Amino acid sequence: MLPVIVLVGRPNVGKSTLFNRLTRSRDALVADFPGLTRDRQYGIGRVGPGPYVVVDTGGISGGDGVEMLTERQVQHAIDEADHLLFLVDAREGSSSIDLEIAEQLRRTGKPLTLVANKVDHVDWETAAGEFHLLGVGDPHPIAATQGRGVKALLDQVFARL
Ligand code: GDP
Ligand code: MG
Repeated sequence: MLPVIVLVGRPNVGKSTLFNRLTRSRDALVADFPGLTRDRQYGIGRVGPGPYVVVDTGGISGGDGVEMLTERQVQHAIDEADHLLFLVDAREGSSSIDLEIAEQLRRTGKPLTLVANKVDHVDWETAAGEFHLLGVGDPHPIAATQGRGVKALLDQVFARL
């Protein structure tokens, strides 16, 4: 069976953008407003060492991140995951919602990589510092729209599978 990598994070951090890049598709809808992905979206990941299943998640309500994680759809995706990619927005910095998501994800006991997206817009050193406060390890920087850091991210995930 292919490993299952699940993208989680509050709305608008770039999960669907990363999904499309990993699957080399436009299957996931990307929007500059929160809450667009209404269901789990499955694809075959082709960027990185080997094929894998990649799952994009979103909240039906489009509510805040905490609500989103308790959605059955998201919970189901997390249950299936071999590895979780927890996306945060480097442009906006870490929020209290990110902190609550981090706590919930840590409780799952699943292997987790913190991914700081949108580094094209920030001074990376500054952003990285505050994401350490989430307590889920070193943030891995990417810019999903350009693909910067994405292959290195998958190399790192595969090393831990
Ligand atoms: P989702 O709600 O987490 O699925 O987020 P989306 O993938 O729909 O993206 C939300 C917004 O962030 C869209 O306007 C994207 O174009 C933008 N976005 C995603 N990745 C990046 C990135 O690496 N850099 C920048 N500047 N914007 C990004
Ligand atoms: Mg989405």
